[in-house]
Amino acid sequence: MRARLAVVFVLAWALVRTLISRLFGARTGLALFRANYAEDRLPAATAEERALPSLSGCIACGLCDLGLDRPLGGAMDLALASSRATIDADAAEVGLAKLDDDALLAREALCPTRVPLLAVARLTRARAAAVSGA
Ligand code: SF4
Repeated sequence: MRARLAVVFVLAWALVRTLISRLFGARTGLALFRANYAEDRLPAATAEERALPSLSGCIACGLCDLGLDRPLGGAMDLALASSRATIDADAAEVGLAKLDDDALLAREALCPTRVPLLAVARLTRARAAAVSGA
């Protein structure tokens, strides 16, 4: 019971602080996130990204890379990197250049966890444009 009261107090105090801060024009929420992380090239997740729960479903089995020459990355690298690091999206484009949409769809069909590789590639390209300021 005491622990619950402590949690309620902490949440209530955070709400009051946020509301008071906003009254005095302080940046909060998404504006604060952008101010804090823009220099680190970390864009906020888009609605499309948040709607893709299978984005992080890659189990690194390598099936989608079968037969690919992967010195600079392949479909598995795309799935793993895109679900974990937004900062290096522009670097992931190097691997993406080797995989057109048809190839990604074919690789997607092999995936046992149904990672939507084509959608991941589109998100990665959008992230790359966002972090490069294009
Ligand atoms: S087939 Fe699917 S789970 Fe396996 S490495 Fe590729 S994306 Fe990941």
